[in-house]
Amino acid sequence: MIDQYGRNIDYMRISITDRCSLRCRYCMPEGVELVPMKDILSYEEIAEIVSAGVKLGITKLKITGGEPLVRRGCPDLIRSLKQIPGIEQVTMTTNGVLLEHYLPALLDAGLDAVNISLDTLNRERFEQITGRDLFVEVMQGIKAAADSSIRTKINTVLQKDINTDEILPLAGLAETYPLDVRFIEMMPIGFGAETEGVSNTEVFNTLKEHYPQLSDDSSVHGNGPAVYAHIPGWKGSIGFISAVHGKFCSSCNRIRLSAQGQIKPCLCYGDIADLRPVLRQGYNAEDKQEKLQEILYDAIFHKPQEHCFENFEKITEKNRMVKIGG
Ligand code: SAM
Ligand code: SF4
Repeated sequence: MIDQYGRNIDYMRISITDRCSLRCRYCMPEGVELVPMKDILSYEEIAEIVSAGVKLGITKLKITGGEPLVRRGCPDLIRSLKQIPGIEQVTMTTNGVLLEHYLPALLDAGLDAVNISLDTLNRERFEQITGRDLFVEVMQGIKAAADSSIRTKINTVLQKDINTDEILPLAGLAETYPLDVRFIEMMPIGFGAETEGVSNTEVFNTLKEHYPQLSDDSSVHGNGPAVYAHIPGWKGSIGFISAVHGKFCSSCNRIRLSAQGQIKPCLCYGDIADLRPVLRQGYNAEDKQEKLQEILYDAIFHKPQEHCFENFEKITEKNRMVKIGG
């Protein structure tokens, strides 16, 4: 549907758990409190919300978390969401740790694309950043995805003085493998507010200096706000998601559903619309759908015009990213 600022909102990011197998320092450091399991939506409840969303024009879904693959039955959820009439695409963002194991089931379920997060190519540094020595497993997941038929992207978040020296090697994954590497600017949300990121202008300039032949790639690579560039001869492209330094709010097409059933129209603000009470209040199926659609309509219509990451005092989102889903 079209929101009050004329944007077509057709994309829902769904966090299916706040649990994770890693402890990335800017997202979910050690010791964070977990949501009680009873408060997490069941797969049936998620499907009910998606059905309501479809009626309002949602056609594309991203499954995220926490780490979606730590929740049992994730491929079954994907299969069932793919079967909802009107859903055209279901993709996933994962840390890659369990990807090699689950890839056959995910492909069989009809997953359309996978984004794998990777901030370093150095095993010791991986453990420093993520709190776990699981670099080898993630690389195996990346290789398995790249070797399969699935559209694959790498998501990289740079932290000043931690992994800035890896811009070239990380980008180089797009030379070795048929995948896109996307640099996502650190957003001042949750623990990200305490971590200094790197602007994508700096990333672009570093790449351009080393690869003067880097040129714009205007072909469509997905549903998101990334801008792409290509180096002749490389198998994949380089993407830039400049969430902080390049405001792309005027073309934002998404809403987010948290694992507890809250709709978040914009990452920057704490405002939510809670769908869980509707799911659990004992409405009959028809009334429940009507109520869900009503709340969703209102949340989408009133989606804020733009984020305010440049103005820390105005940011009202206090949740950590692992709860929101990135
Ligand atoms: N566990 C999965 C993963 O790591 O891909 C999915 C959830 S994770 C929250 C989704 C993405 O959000 C990851 O690529 C992560 O690097 C990114 N992320 C987390 N906190 C962030 C922040 N403050 N700013 C920008 N990206 C962030
Ligand atoms: Fe887990 Fe992904 Fe957050 Fe890392 S970025 S802690 S892998 S949810």
